Amino acid sequence: MLQQINGHGSGSDAHGGETLREDLQEFLGGEAPLQQLDDLTKVNPVTLETVLRCLQARYTADTFYTNAGCTLVALNPFKPVPQLYSPELMREYHAASQPQTLRPHIFTVGEQTYRNVRSLIEPVNQSIVVSGESGAGKTWTSRCLMKFYAVVAASPTSWESHKVAERIEQRILNSNPIMEAFGNACTLRNNNSSRFGKFIQLQLNGAQQMTGAAVQTYLLEKTRVACQAPSERNFHIFYQIYKGARAEERVQWRLPEGAAFSWLPHPERTLEEDCFEVTREAMLHLGIDAPTQNNIFQALAGLLHLGNTRFADSGNEAQPCPLVNDAQCEGSVRTSALLLGLPEDHLLETLRIRTIRAGRDQQVFRKPCSQAECDTRRDCLAKLVYARLFDWLVSVINSSICATPDSWTTFIGLLDVYGFESFPNNSLEQLCINYANEKLQQHFVAHYLRAQQEEYAVEGLAWSFVSYQDNQPCLDLIEGSPVSICSLLNEECRLNRPSSAAQLQTRIESALTGRPRLGRDRLSPEPSFIVLHYAGPVRYRTAGLVEKNKDPVPPELTRLLQQSQDPLLKVLFPADPEEKSQEEPSGQNRAPVLTVVSKFKASLEQLLQVLHGTTPHYIRCIKPNSQAQAQIFHREEVLSQLEACGLVETIHISAAGFPIRVSHRNFLERYKLLRRLRPATTPGPHGPCLDGGHSEWPPCAEPAMLQGLLQDILHALPAPLHCGRTKVFMTDSTLELLERRRAQVLEQCARHIQRGWRRHRCRTQARQRRAAVLIQAAVRSWLTRKHVQRLHAAATVIKRAWREWRIRMAFLASEELDGVEEKHSSQTSCSPSSSPLPPAQTRLQGAITRLWPLGLALANAAVGMHGFQRKLVVFACLQLPVGSPRSCAVQTAQEQAGVLSIRALPQGSIRFHCRKSPLRYADTCPGPSPDSVTGFNQILLERHRLGHV
Ligand code: ADP
Ligand code: MG
Repeated sequence: MLQQINGHGSGSDAHGGETLREDLQEFLGGEAPLQQLDDLTKVNPVTLETVLRCLQARYTADTFYTNAGCTLVALNPFKPVPQLYSPELMREYHAASQPQTLRPHIFTVGEQTYRNVRSLIEPVNQSIVVSGESGAGKTWTSRCLMKFYAVVAASPTSWESHKVAERIEQRILNSNPIMEAFGNACTLRNNNSSRFGKFIQLQLNGAQQMTGAAVQTYLLEKTRVACQAPSERNFHIFYQIYKGARAEERVQWRLPEGAAFSWLPHPERTLEEDCFEVTREAMLHLGIDAPTQNNIFQALAGLLHLGNTRFADSGNEAQPCPLVNDAQCEGSVRTSALLLGLPEDHLLETLRIRTIRAGRDQQVFRKPCSQAECDTRRDCLAKLVYARLFDWLVSVINSSICATPDSWTTFIGLLDVYGFESFPNNSLEQLCINYANEKLQQHFVAHYLRAQQEEYAVEGLAWSFVSYQDNQPCLDLIEGSPVSICSLLNEECRLNRPSSAAQLQTRIESALTGRPRLGRDRLSPEPSFIVLHYAGPVRYRTAGLVEKNKDPVPPELTRLLQQSQDPLLKVLFPADPEEKSQEEPSGQNRAPVLTVVSKFKASLEQLLQVLHGTTPHYIRCIKPNSQAQAQIFHREEVLSQLEACGLVETIHISAAGFPIRVSHRNFLERYKLLRRLRPATTPGPHGPCLDGGHSEWPPCAEPAMLQGLLQDILHALPAPLHCGRTKVFMTDSTLELLERRRAQVLEQCARHIQRGWRRHRCRTQARQRRAAVLIQAAVRSWLTRKHVQRLHAAATVIKRAWREWRIRMAFLASEELDGVEEKHSSQTSCSPSSSPLPPAQTRLQGAITRLWPLGLALANAAVGMHGFQRKLVVFACLQLPVGSPRSCAVQTAQEQAGVLSIRALPQGSIRFHCRKSPLRYADTCPGPSPDSVTGFNQILLERHRLGHV
């Protein structure tokens, strides 16, 4: 193929061929990454073909969930994938900071709704619309979401409240098997097809814990009780009691093994939904005790027996139709009457004879019914009982799981409705189902597509409007006013006139002629009309439409059931006189007719009202093949479903538009810090500073001014972003970029804070260190001072001691001298030759004696005198005789100042030697070792003596 294309292209130019080859390679090589694309809006280009290829690639890789803008596409795996719904995964999605960044999953939607409730941003209440064909996985998805909420919305703190929450969750989960047993059936498309619409309201308290739930049901397909399409089955519960009853129950309910029931086709097929025990267990948990259960199952068995009742043609209008002449049929009526607590003959009479009230005085006429009428009345009886039983069960479930109004504040709604249906023969049920789907599609269109585009227009954004399929014309055709299919059907019921199917067809065609969504199948052998639904054309047969719409319940049937002795039927059909007047709109008493269509329309309006008050989320379930086989992907079937659910338009708009919109205030509050990324500049001409007083920021600021501010924030942001009048519009990628930048700035800020803190810490530490050093220095100096003071004190003590010693020495010396002198003077006075000294001389003598140390000091002064002079001074101050060297000798150190020694030979032969004169530098003058210092005064004495000689 590549060769061919290259060959084809080689004729033009080599460059073109190269480009084409690259394109082709890219195109072919795009297969592998396709499966990694989590969002269908990211496929390029967004076409049905690429979307389909992406979904197929993901399905093959066992990836079953894909985003499509705001919608989640869920492909039915048709095989168990346990790890995809494990509690661990639920917790992972619940704990994720941004669950939308994880792989697409229903848990992302669940978590998103849960967080929205927690954020309290209006509208706080959430709804999840799960739509898709029958068998696409809606009920499965709803069930998984309920399990998810049961896990995440149950984290109460106290053990007691935990137990309460657990009990509520278990009850909510237990309501599923009951609803499915009584409301689901095996159809051609789905083994567990829900034959009713269901809106579950999960109620949360202020702490976002599940405190209760409420279930609202829509349009149970009750005709299935009495009439099943070929290859389809009745509701599961009939098979469950038939297969799962215990021996004694079989006896009690008259359900012997192998018994044949005409309302129980294909009992041989065993499905996993046929588990009776699960239903019983769930009923028990919801407070339906064993006797009540027994009563319910007995009544259901009575209906099965009623189905075996057959009427034969009487051949005479005046005679009631006889039963088919077989023992089994008669036995069936008897058994049925017994099980339903009704008198057998009364039951037979009611089924076969009609009562008519006519005339002014309401005279009662009895008219035998035809065989067909008898069959209709029998079926009607069964449908009536089953429908009332179903409603009663729903009310029991609600009373068991519903929280008191003051115990919940918010809710998350789960809408699981039957998908769009188109069969070869479609009747009123399909009309109602498809009408509901049209309504929901419109809600989706209104919410997402139209709202989005209108918002762009209101916000003043330039936007090339994507053409999308608005289904309003179709809704106008079905429910519009003044004339529509519904109004015509109701009119027929109100007029209560006999009309044929052909007449109805003509009426519809003539009254609604020119309507764009009405078609006609001219080749059809039976009267019909075609409605061109958004998901495709559907042909509805007109036969039986009016009757079904009337859903007539003969008053005799209600009266009969009110007379039942069965405790359950007494509850289901209480004697109510008002009911009588409602159900007998005969004669002039024309109460407004409550038709099936009008009731359904009213409940649908109510549902949509609830949905409009919530933030909606959409999950589109897709059935990859109609055989319910794993790993098989039928492109055509998937394609038609993608078109049917309007997914392609969604993808186009999501891709081209701005799925994210944020109010100016919120945007600025969140991203104003991005201005930090901008290099420091002078404040721009854009007016108010973002950092200060943002709360005063006007909500409707001039877009141009805001644009300037945004440009400030986003000056380096290469992503598309548009500023509307009140909101900022952006794509997912822009949001991602903004968030990344914001994280950067926050990181920067964190670093700044860290840096500042560290600086502060260092400074504090340095201050502390300086203070410590100062204190240490002060202490040390104080200690040193103390020490020095002690030394001083010690020195003073020593000095004082020394002085005292010296004084004492001096005193002793003077004492000694005084003693010698006294002795000498006494000796002198005693000798006849000596004469006493004159007083002046004695005084001089005393002065010399006192001043001799001064003389010594002067003699030893380092300056002035040398050698002999010094000796003379010493001699002079000691008053030694210079001329008698025999008696004493003075040695002086010539070079050094000071007396080296004084040697004297005092009286007698004792030799004195003084070395330690206080005026001598002992360390510089080596000399003979001192013998004694005593006897120094002898020298003075000698001098004194010589002086007197
Ligand atoms: P719907 O409610 O749309 O009619 P269901 O939810 O009943 O369809 O799903 C039909 C069947 O498809 C289920 O019975 C189940 O066997 C199968 N199925 C659906 N979704 C899943 C899933 N996620 N994983 C496994 N099987 C699934
Ligand atoms: Mg279902």
